[in-house]
Amino acid sequence: MSEPSFTPRHIDVDNDAEVMRVDWADGHQSRIPITRLRGYCPCAECQGHGGPIAWHDNHVTGISHAEMVGRYAVLLVFADGHDTGIFRWDYLRKLDPEERSRWGEPENFGRATP
Ligand SMILES: [Zn+2]
Repeated sequence: MSEPSFTPRHIDVDNDAEVMRVDWADGHQSRIPITRLRGYCPCAECQGHGGPIAWHDNHVTGISHAEMVGRYAVLLVFADGHDTGIFRWDYLRKLDPEERSRWGEPENFGRATP
């Protein structure tokens, strides 16, 4: 089983619209709400070690800093000061609400679809 690999061409944080926009190499455009990114932050502090991804309710609508991590991920610093979330491209793509029908919610990522 192989999953497609996703590469962003351009990432743009729009704090006024409270979204992060991603232009992907395959032509898809994502608009991901910042609250969604914060709520599904993949870092160990938010998610612990192992187990399914969990939603953390929040009202964070801003990103103060975004920084590439190598060629595989982006580090997001949220307006609440949380700065340990490293979002790999594949994970970021799956967080796009428009891709929900394809991947489900993060709680289900990595599980086989019946
Ligand atoms: Zn986190």
